[in-house]
Amino acid sequence: MRLSKLFLPVMKETPADAQIVSHRLMLRSGMIRQSAAGIYNWLPLGLKVLRNVERIVREEQDRAGAQEILMPTVQQAELWKQSGRYDAYGPEMLRMMDRHEREMLFGPTHEEQVTDIFRNCVKSYKDLPKNLYQIQWKFRDEIRPRFGVMRGREFLMKDNYSFDLDEEAARRSYNRMFVAYLRTFARLGVRAIPMRADTGPIGGELSHEFIVLAPTGESAVFYDHDFNSLDIPADDTDYDGDLQPIVDNWTSRYAATEEMHEPTANGVPEGHKLITGRGIEVGHIFYFGTKYSEPMNAIVQGADGEKIPVHMGSYGIGVSRLVGAIIEASHDDNGIIWPENVAPWHVGLINLRSNDADCTAACDDLYEKLGRAGVDVLYDDTSERAGAKFAKMDLVGLPWQLMLGPRGLKAGIVELKNRATGEREELTPDAAFAKLA
Ligand code: ATP
Ligand code: MG
Ligand code: MG
Ligand code: MG
Repeated sequence: MRLSKLFLPVMKETPADAQIVSHRLMLRSGMIRQSAAGIYNWLPLGLKVLRNVERIVREEQDRAGAQEILMPTVQQAELWKQSGRYDAYGPEMLRMMDRHEREMLFGPTHEEQVTDIFRNCVKSYKDLPKNLYQIQWKFRDEIRPRFGVMRGREFLMKDNYSFDLDEEAARRSYNRMFVAYLRTFARLGVRAIPMRADTGPIGGELSHEFIVLAPTGESAVFYDHDFNSLDIPADDTDYDGDLQPIVDNWTSRYAATEEMHEPTANGVPEGHKLITGRGIEVGHIFYFGTKYSEPMNAIVQGADGEKIPVHMGSYGIGVSRLVGAIIEASHDDNGIIWPENVAPWHVGLINLRSNDADCTAACDDLYEKLGRAGVDVLYDDTSERAGAKFAKMDLVGLPWQLMLGPRGLKAGIVELKNRATGEREELTPDAAFAKLA
């Protein structure tokens, strides 16, 4: 992509209500623009990152055996009356009426909707287990939308729902998601710690929140320092095998958010130092048994013809929140530092003198070669001065910057900078190509 063609409305001054760094950087770098309180437009740079996060989330869901569906954003109130949550959900639910005066709502979550699909389509224990996921916009009328996409009113969530015959099988489904979440967050370049959680209005017995550590996080957290060195489950993890040892390894150490913190009751070993910090909830998993299947009649026939309400779990990842959370965890004074896997482009190519024909020809040449080799390049081909180009490239935060100027080119060298470490290296254009391709 040539920067001269890119729709990248950078902002010089950020609004005063942008209190945290990710919100400011997302506005400044032209990733998002606010539409209304807690509601955002995603512009090309932001959307590219959002799609990258989505892609990784999707790959890990597929790997763990979940199947993708897409449910509507607008739901009938009727379903929520059946589960008993229509009144219980309160003012966070955006309610509306269609022209026939039927009560509708904008889905804050989809347990009811998916249970309705299940009860209409699945009748026998032989069809279990099932795990269905979607990546879909939600609406919650948050009392205090803030921190940009981190607490929006409209936000993108990956949500999935597991269906099993009994509690033991449901725990296996829970474990599959637990492991998939560890892998997902690691691939996104953040360290997320699973913490025992309160189940809140979704209800149920077993639940973990996945918390990314960042000083601006909304929750205070307390965790064992061992979490800094636990291994992430590998690519070839067998999701049909026994995942309990992995889950045990990650849950036997102390980790709790403020609400759940009970240092004396929860077996923190004597003299063991907990780390105190702040964190952002990026994922949340629940096992809630028959909480929805019983009132909504989601029943399968067992081997002996008996009627069994399915055991369910639900699992959420805040896809749009993660874009902000990743920035909170990875930035410096000059801007964003994207982890490789979510970076909108791999390399920023900077033409230091666009009015110099030889320099421009060399830049064009490298740009084309890298493109042909499948390297994603953002090419600053504009006529801005060099200082402004450096600042913009640092702000946008691509992993590598490749700088070409007339003086270097005469000596046969270009400069390569690593955004995260700041390390610079001078090398020939061919060597730079080989390193990036
Ligand atoms: P929070 O405690 O931050 O209000 P929650 O516990 O209400 O979140 P869940 O119902 O567990 O949220 O939803 C699953 C995930 O969706 C959360 O872990 C979070 O990452 C994301 N999420 C929830 N609310 C928002 C929001 N208002 N804006 C962006 N993402 C959100
Ligand atoms: Mg909430
Ligand atoms: Mg929460
Ligand atoms: Mg939650």
